[in-house]
Parts: sequence; structure tokens; C-alpha cells
Amino acid sequence: MGGCTRRRTWLRRPPRRPSSTPAQARSAEAAAYAQHLTFADEVEAAEAELVAASDDAALARAQLAELAEEAAAREKTSKRLTREARALDEALAEQGLHTPAVGRVTSSFGPRVHPVTGVYKQHTGTDFEGTDGKYYAAASGVVTYAGYDGAYGYMVKIDHGRVGGQHLETWYAHQPGIAVAVGEDVGRGQVIGSIGNTGYSTGPHAHVELHVNGRPVDLMAHLHR
Ligand SMILES: [Zn+2]
Repeated sequence: MGGCTRRRTWLRRPPRRPSSTPAQARSAEAAAYAQHLTFADEVEAAEAELVAASDDAALARAQLAELAEEAAAREKTSKRLTREARALDEALAEQGLHTPAVGRVTSSFGPRVHPVTGVYKQHTGTDFEGTDGKYYAAASGVVTYAGYDGAYGYMVKIDHGRVGGQHLETWYAHQPGIAVAVGEDVGRGQVIGSIGNTGYSTGPHAHVELHVNGRPVDLMAHLHR
């Protein structure tokens, strides 16, 4: 639109003297007309830009509305997760989850750079040293998975059913092999496997996940030793 300002200055020039010859007058008229056409083009271009700008504004408004909607949805999810965590804590207040492995926690639940893949993502479980080489069932339940699963290596999943209205499941990964069978009932604190190094693992350690209603959550927040 910068051209408008520059070319519009012709409007402010003093009027042409009428003392010119008819030929001069005609050519001046033609020049003025040409300038008028140029100006009309510029007005049209400016109008097109205005339309485009208002389209942009409408798009920005739509995107803003979408973001607001997403923020509201996240807020709702976060409130639901808080509610679920509270219900679970109340249910586990009497007797918390049994420690699934002993020794120091070597990697906590949360975002991290994966030691094998080098990719920055959520660590969906808690790593323990597992110094006695054993896995313990965090709560009573039934074995729903006992097999090899890629990055997890040999893994056992235990379904604990509903606790405080929340569905609980625990996973025990990187085992050297499988010691329990699918469908087997296990008691709280029962040895259900061994610490190993299968799957994506830099050395023998326990990787334990707690899933509440199908989503991995921080096991340590619900572990009462
Ligand atoms: Zn891990």
C-alpha cells in the first residue's frame, strides 16, 4: 500500500494552466486520465488487501476460539485427574501399594531423555535398582499379560480391578523371562518375577508402571512404604 501515498501527491499539485495549446491540453488530460487509472488500480488493490486482512482477522478469531476450547478441555481433564487421584489416595490410605521393587529409585516418572533412544519424552514408569533381583505385586490382582513387548522386554501386567472407583493396573518390565501365567491370581507383595535387562535397557533394573483408568501415572505418589 506504500505506493498510494507516493502517487496521491499528484492531487495536491497546482491546477494546470489553461494557457496551453489544445495538443498540450489533450496530452495533459491523457496523462491525468492515466494517473487516475493507476490510482483506481491502487484503490482496488488496497480494497483487496482490506478483504484479505479481514479474512486473516476472522481466521485469527477462529484459532483463538479453538485455543480457548482446548484450554477449557485441558482444565476439565486436569480437574478429573485430580479427582481420580484423590479418590485413589483415599482408597489406598489404609494400605498403600506394596513396593514393587527394592533399592534406590534411579529414574522417576516424568519427562526425560531416554538413555537408549536419546529421545526426549515421558518416562511412563519408575525405575528402581531392584537390588534383591525380585519384583513384588503392588497389590492383589490377576495377571493379564506375561510376554515380550518390544522396548519393555519380558513384561508382566497385573490387573487390580477397581480401587476407590478407579481401575488399577501395574506393569513390570525388562524381566529375564516370565515366571507367572496369564490368568494367575497374585497376592499383594507376592514375588511375580525377576529384575532383568531385556528390551530397551542399559542395565538390569526394575521398570514399574502404574496405570489408572488406562493412563500411566506416578507410582511413587501412591506408594506408602
Ligand atoms: Zn524405566
